[in-house]
This record gives sequence, structure tokens and C-alpha cells, in this order.
Amino acid sequence: MLLKTILNRVHQIKGFVYTDVKFEEFPSLTITVKIESRKNGKGRCSLCGARCPGYDRLPERRFEFIPLWNIPVLLLCRLRRVSCSEHGVVVEQIPWAKGKEQTTTAFQIFLSQWAKLLSWKEVALRFRTSWDTVCLSLKRVVEYGLEHRDLSNIESIGVDEIAIGKGHDYVTMVYQIDDATKRLLWIGKDRKVKTLLRFFMDFGKERTKSIKFVCSDMWRPYLKVIAKKIPTALNILDRFHIMKKFNDALDKIRSGEAGKLRQDGKEPVLTKTRWLLLKRPQNLTCKQKGHLKKLLQYNLKSVRAYLLREDFQHFWSVYIINMGIKIPG
Ligand SMILES: [Zn+2]
Repeated sequence: MLLKTILNRVHQIKGFVYTDVKFEEFPSLTITVKIESRKNGKGRCSLCGARCPGYDRLPERRFEFIPLWNIPVLLLCRLRRVSCSEHGVVVEQIPWAKGKEQTTTAFQIFLSQWAKLLSWKEVALRFRTSWDTVCLSLKRVVEYGLEHRDLSNIESIGVDEIAIGKGHDYVTMVYQIDDATKRLLWIGKDRKVKTLLRFFMDFGKERTKSIKFVCSDMWRPYLKVIAKKIPTALNILDRFHIMKKFNDALDKIRSGEAGKLRQDGKEPVLTKTRWLLLKRPQNLTCKQKGHLKKLLQYNLKSVRAYLLREDFQHFWSVYIINMGIKIPG
């Protein structure tokens, strides 16, 4: 009786009522709840949704519902077949499950919420169902989400690649990174020009027009597609890659210049200064700081390159952040 009251509160089914609740002991403890259609209520055609006269009833079907006290709960129902003027004799539409599936939508949602926290296998074990059921549940929830998601007014996106498995297998991920909404929008195999082109194709021309900011790394195929598809958007490159380029250039200038000083028989002021120039100033030891201060007084190409890099750091932290664009790192 209590279970029926709970079910009526949390999982009411329009046009149907809960009737018998039973404990089945074999093969394992299970709670079964019968569902019956309301008297005089007409069934709906599962193809068009129209109310139709009944035809006959099918043998009882069982649907997995959310377990109670970790005891599996099954909803039992003898579905009607209805006679639709357009589709002929078809099985009735049921609001608690999809098509021929044996899992209720409520249980699918429940499982997919747990699958965010635990592995699929663990979820299946804990709630006494199969791995396949967990997988199908996620598939259904994702399908529903994709059908109902709102992709309007996306202004900022982030493009990144991640390596999957061993070797050089990659996928391209596109995220929405607006202040109010951060979410994964799209995943595509590889990190080629055509991968990202496919995203823009799926995303559509109209929506693409609203993009104002794109964050990406300096992977050339991405830069190429971004420049082609959204030439008016501001492409913000990831700081890590820019700094790497800066440091590579700085190191090249320094070693060239150090060699030249030696060659010309001048004072070797650039000897042992590699890490002095490459490390972030805040990571230097006191002794190194003193050494750097002295070095910066020389009129050298390496010093100018160093100061340029530090200017860029300043630009990044002040200018970009003042524009209200929050970029991790
Ligand atoms: Zn129909």
C-alpha cells in the first residue's frame, strides 16, 4: 500500500493506475507492481499517438524500475493492441518506457546519474542490472539531451585535442566557454582540417555567426579552419603554447649571441644564463635574481627578447583579463 502511494506521488502515469504490489521470493527477492489502464480509457497508437479503440491484449511484459532498499522493482503490464485508422493494429504507446525496451525511462535517468559518479560496471553491480542496461540508459539520456539542447547565442568556444589510446590517435573537442554556460558541444575523430570543418558544418552557418571568441592552441589545422570559418572572431591562443614559442625563440637568440660574443673575444656575459632567462622571474633564487638584474643592464638582443616576453606576460594578465575573458592557466 505504502509503495503504491509512493509510486503515485513520484511516478504517476497518465491513463494508467498501479494495482497489485507483491514480493516475489524466487529466483531472488523482487518487488513487482502491476500497472493497468484506466477503465474506459482508450489507448494511443504508438506510431501516431492518436486515441484508438482497443483490439486485444498482449502477454505480460516486465519493466525494470528504480530499486527500493536495493530490492529490484519491476512494473508489470499487459499492453493493449489498438486499432488505428491509419496504422492498423499496433501496440499501444506507453509513457514509462520507449518502444520494446524493458527499462523504464525513470530507471534509465537514475542509472545515468549514477554513471557520472561510478564506472558503468559498478553502477550495474550496485543496482542489480546489466552493463548493457547502463549503456543503453546513457545512450537514451544523451539522445534526449541532444534533441532538446539549446545552441543559440553561443559567443565563446574552445577547441582542443586529446590523445586517445596509444600512439597518435586524437579526438577534437569543442566546448562552449561562455561565462554562464560551460559545456562540451562536439567531439570528432582526428585533429585534421576536415575534423574541425565537420564541427562547423554540424553547428550551422547561422549559429557560427554569433561566435565572437575562440580559444585554441597553435595547432595549424585548427588555426586554418578558424580563420576561414569565423574570420571576425577573436582567436585567443593558448598561453602555454605561446610561451613555449617565446622561450624557444629566446633560447635561440641567446645561444647565437653567446657564441658571437665568444667569437668576437668580448666579455662572455651570456654564459650560464640559459635558465636565468627561461625561468619565470618568481621562480628564480635570490642569487639568480641578482645575476639577472646585472644582465638586464647590457644592451643585448637576448635582453630585448627577454623584456618582450615579460611584456607579453603583462599583456596577458592585464589586457586579456580586463576584457573579461577568463582563460585557465
Ligand atoms: Zn496511428
